[in-house]
Amino acid sequence: LVSREVKQEDSQVRVGNLMLGGAAIHVIAGPCSVESREQIISTAQAVKSAGATMLRGGAFKPRTSPYEFQGLKGDGLALLAEARKETGLLVTTEVKDTATLAAVAEHTDILQVGARNMQNFSLLEAVGDTRKPVLLKRGISATIKELLMAAEYIVARGNTQVILCERGIRTFENMTRNTLDLNAVPMLKALTHLPVFVDPSHGIGVRKAVPAMMRAAVAAGADGLIVEVHPDPPRAKSDGFQSLDFSEFEKAMGEVRAIAAAM
Ligand code: PEP
Ligand code: MN
Repeated sequence: LVSREVKQEDSQVRVGNLMLGGAAIHVIAGPCSVESREQIISTAQAVKSAGATMLRGGAFKPRTSPYEFQGLKGDGLALLAEARKETGLLVTTEVKDTATLAAVAEHTDILQVGARNMQNFSLLEAVGDTRKPVLLKRGISATIKELLMAAEYIVARGNTQVILCERGIRTFENMTRNTLDLNAVPMLKALTHLPVFVDPSHGIGVRKAVPAMMRAAVAAGADGLIVEVHPDPPRAKSDGFQSLDFSEFEKAMGEVRAIAAAM
C-alpha cells in the first residue's frame, strides 16, 4: 500500500490546517522532553517566531537507562496542550506503548512512534486503528525496507496518514551519536508516496553540527524536519548535547528557507 507502484503521486498528510508532503517544507521543533510550563511555552513561542509550524516535546520518554528522566507523563501532555493553545502550534509527542495510546492521542496532533518501537507490531497496529497522523521513525538498526514494512503495518489497518522519518542509524562510526542516512531520503521518495521527514538532531547528535544536517536534509529532498530546541541546552533533562538554543535555531531556519527557495 505504501509503494509508489501502487500510487504514483505524492501523498499528503493533513495535520490540522497543514498539509505535510506538499510544496512547503514543514519544521517540527521543540525540546526532547517537556520539563516545565516555562520551558515548553517559551520554546513554543521561539520556534514559532523562527518559522516552525509544529511543536515537539516528549512526555512519555523511552530512555536507554531506567534511571534517566522518564518524562512528565500526563503532566507533560497537559503542558503541551497549554503550549498548543497559547501559540496555535500543532503538537507532536511520542507514544511509547499501547497502554498510554488513548491518553496521548487525545492530546496530540501527530503520534510519534520512536525508533525503539519501529517494530513494536502491537503498537503499529494500535496506531493504525486510530485516524491520527503518525510520524514513524526509522529503527536504530532498521533497513529502509524494514521501515517501509513498519509503515505498511499502520496503513494496512486503514490509517493512511503516515509520515516516515529518517533519524540516523547505528554504524561503526562513534564520533557522532548515529549516522544520519541521507541516502534514505531520495530512496524513500522513489520507493513510496508517503512524506519523508528527517531528524538531524538524533541523526548526528552533535549540537554544532545539527544546522549543517538540517540544510543537507532539505537539499536531499526531505518534506520536513524535526529538530530539538531548548532554552538552555546544557541544562536540558535529555538530549541537551544535540539541542539548538533559540538563536541557533532561528539562524538555521533562515538557511533552510534559502535552500528550499532555491530548489
Ligand atoms: C526523540 O525524538 O526524542 C526520540 C527519542 O527519538 P528516537 O525515537 O528517534 O530516538
Ligand atoms: Mn531526544
